[in-house]
Amino acid sequence: MKSVLEENIQAAIELTDMLASSLGPKGMDKMLVDNIGDVHVTNDGFTIIDKMEIKHPIAKIVAETAKTQDKEAGDGTTTVIVLTGELLKQALQLIKAGIHPTIITQAYAKALKDAIRILRSKAVKTVTEADLENMISTALTGKPTSTKHLTQVVLDAVKNTETDDILIVKKAGNSVEESRTIKGVLIDKEPVHPRMSTEAMNAKVLITRTPLEIEKTEVSTEIMIQDPAQLSTFLTQENNAIKKKTDSIINSGAKIAVFQKGISEKAQESLARAGIIALRRVREKDIDMLLKATKSRLAEDLESIKPEDLGTAELLKVEKIGDEKLTLIQGAGNVSTILIRGGTKQVIEEAERTINDALGVVRIIRKEQAYLPGAGLTELIISKELMNNTLKGKERLAYEGFSNALKKVTETLVRNTGAKPLDLMPELTSQNKGVSIEGTPINPISEGVIEPLKVKEQAITSATETAIMILRIDEILKGK
Ligand code: ADP
Ligand code: MG
Repeated sequence: MKSVLEENIQAAIELTDMLASSLGPKGMDKMLVDNIGDVHVTNDGFTIIDKMEIKHPIAKIVAETAKTQDKEAGDGTTTVIVLTGELLKQALQLIKAGIHPTIITQAYAKALKDAIRILRSKAVKTVTEADLENMISTALTGKPTSTKHLTQVVLDAVKNTETDDILIVKKAGNSVEESRTIKGVLIDKEPVHPRMSTEAMNAKVLITRTPLEIEKTEVSTEIMIQDPAQLSTFLTQENNAIKKKTDSIINSGAKIAVFQKGISEKAQESLARAGIIALRRVREKDIDMLLKATKSRLAEDLESIKPEDLGTAELLKVEKIGDEKLTLIQGAGNVSTILIRGGTKQVIEEAERTINDALGVVRIIRKEQAYLPGAGLTELIISKELMNNTLKGKERLAYEGFSNALKKVTETLVRNTGAKPLDLMPELTSQNKGVSIEGTPINPISEGVIEPLKVKEQAITSATETAIMILRIDEILKGK
């Protein structure tokens, strides 16, 4: 009979094996169909895990690892899953050979420490513009979109701009090749009134979260409990208050007014008559970006707007994209929008995930300038160096299990290119090479297949910690 531990490992491996074919530039996509029939097509490890129904509690632990990787490094989510699976497979063999799980977890912890030390010592610590471009391109390779074009789109977006100050707007239609970066904030709204202008330059901007209408919830809670006769008095008061706020906006000198909430019809009329361009129901995220782009401050009290609340839009322009009208606002603040186009919702969403991986790469490289070879070479190098150890007996076997697991990641990449691991692995190992998309040996550094140190470091750390956690569980109990 199998032990609980062996069953747990089996459950984890079922999930990780499923993801193995999605690793690398020739990775296959998964199609996920949810309860309501929505379809997602992706080869992003995190997304597959995130959208998949996972029942087994151990598989859920593995899924968490992909989430951590996504949060901490942005890229490398498939790698972390594959490595977790390989570490567990090695452990299973060792357990079957009579080695106690405690010895394995201790050896894995030790090997992790050594692996990180080797990893850090191998990293290249200066990052040029060309290196950054290569890292973006490596993160984008193998997705069903043009790597070259999207690399340029991402480069344009991050130029002079923090990765947190980049907005993504998705519009179906055209092809991914039509995706582009635009300076400023592209808002998926058009001016609320047909008589409002569709273009402005050097205009003062007012941005607020305060509504310029009677909010429905307010009416119902305030009025329901009161005498119906008071309703009209209440409404008049409210309407007067809105009028006051509207006048105050008109007098503030603002030529553009952006609302997170609604604007009453009357107020829309008044604003249009006063020559103000107003947008309503703008997403919170867009509001935040607009504040930065136009260097504005939120104007919360519309009856006393201070001149320093107002920012400046160098340009406002209503743009037609497909059949829809969107409003572009540019200011002196460094904010950019990546507009993603694509034939179907699935294509657009996969492009968005890929772009987010690339933005994650830029974010972490700006935090720590260090990179490593990709294409499976880093895993191979660490695996090789770990074999030079002075350990003995069972501990040595377990430690080498860790080394084997790393090599299996490279082997998975090789297999996914269509090449035969049995032929190619010895060649890569002896020549210190990685594997190209075509399944031939390459020097990843000179070919520009490079990845941030942090992506690899996080992946190896999380995978090992997860494997150790699973190896320590000898019982699953039902909690109350
Ligand atoms: P992850 O979700 O782990 O990032 P990917 O499917 O993006 O998984 O694959 C990442 C792996 O593919 C890395 O090992 C990376 O070095 C490798 N890779 C990316 N581009 C290339 C390339 N052009 N040639 C060879 N390997 C590549
Ligand atoms: Mg990737």
